[in-house]
Amino acid sequence: MTTPGLAHYSTIVVGAGPAGVLAALHAAERGPVLLADASALPRSKSCGGMLHELSLATLRPYGTLPEDIVAEPRTVHFRYHDWDRRIMRTTELAFLNVSRAGFDEWLVGLLPDAVDVVARTALTGFTQDERAVTAEFRTEEGLITVTADLLIGADGARSQVRRTLDIRESSSYVTLQDFVTLEGEIDPVFDCIYMRDIGDEFGYCYVVPKDGVALIGSVFYPRTKRPWEKQDQIVALLRERLPQLGERVERESAAALYLRSPEDILPGWGRVLLAGEAGGFMSPTSGEGISYALRTGRDAGIAAAGGPDGALHRYTQTTSPIVSDIRRRFRWLPFMESRAGKYLAGFVPTPIVSRVTMGL
Ligand SMILES: Cc1cc2nc3c(=O)[nH]c(=O)nc-3n(C[C@H](O)[C@H](O)[C@H](O)COP(=O)(O)OP(=O)(O)OC[C@H]3O[C@@H](n4cnc5c(N)ncnc54)[C@H](O)[C@@H]3O)c2cc1C
Repeated sequence: MTTPGLAHYSTIVVGAGPAGVLAALHAAERGPVLLADASALPRSKSCGGMLHELSLATLRPYGTLPEDIVAEPRTVHFRYHDWDRRIMRTTELAFLNVSRAGFDEWLVGLLPDAVDVVARTALTGFTQDERAVTAEFRTEEGLITVTADLLIGADGARSQVRRTLDIRESSSYVTLQDFVTLEGEIDPVFDCIYMRDIGDEFGYCYVVPKDGVALIGSVFYPRTKRPWEKQDQIVALLRERLPQLGERVERESAAALYLRSPEDILPGWGRVLLAGEAGGFMSPTSGEGISYALRTGRDAGIAAAGGPDGALHRYTQTTSPIVSDIRRRFRWLPFMESRAGKYLAGFVPTPIVSRVTMGL
């Protein structure tokens, strides 16, 4: 479908990522749903494609993940790596290594017929009153207006829905991912690396093998200037010790939510619910976001299926354990981001690093 089939929907969901798909799937139990995404579908989202066990547990009721989206090596353990001091701690925290594009496409395939999925349809704004939400979208044919009883914003780190609510704007990290050929084997781990020479704008980088290539990702703080030059510097440093890292075949950049305080978490306002990164739901300490998007998307959809009256209240209640979990993680953030914290982590024995990492 290229344009919405109806003028009025039970629920409009903005964004076809994990939060939006599960929100639409559950909201459809009440009536027709419009799921609109600004990009082409199947979409290509810059991501490490590491599925945490919480993501896998959340997905279990929806079916079995297809084997062809699982990458080689299948499972990777998180490794804390202080590059300068050559300290490595392989933890027990394991992730399923998947193709993110394949994963997202599989999710969209779960949607029932009651969901109209439209691609290249970007929300530009909306208004709400006591009866409905009126949303405006930019499509390839021009601007269109659609109304609904409820709207769920699942449009990611730079959410237009959240901006339109104008309550508390979020900020974002700059991320870059290079895919490079592999001229030999590298350790089959999700290697999370701290380097001191890149400067204070640099958060961390990671290296993970995936189906014969290596994924080299870097996370920079907001407003980092010329991040691609820093990424070149990081890759050059990595190659000094990992000559197996070959030629770059692809580079992509993206934004990831930069959570600073619990006030950044916003479940919505009035007839509008915010799920996934749009609502500030992700781990501020590890950057893991898929399990949060899946759980809050599911909860927003279930709240919408119960009808517009009290939907935000029900959603706020069901997501309160997730909010408490994010609040707990915030306590670790100042220590983890400080130079002293990164230095001291090198002295902590592996079992303790492992246990702490499980909670981040
Ligand atoms: C480089 C990188 C690596 C990552 N690696 C991992 C990882 O390995 N494991 C993990 O768990 N998490 C990872 N994350 C985080 C994870 O990708 C996100 O937290 C997760 O995808 C959030 O899901 P979401 O549904 O909230 O939003 P998204 O997946 O971001 O989806 C939002 C959708 O909204 C659409 N959209 C945006 N604006 C509009 C608009 N105005 N109108 C209509 N549609 C719109 C976008 O096109 C997009 O498809 C990573 C993030 C980055 C940037």
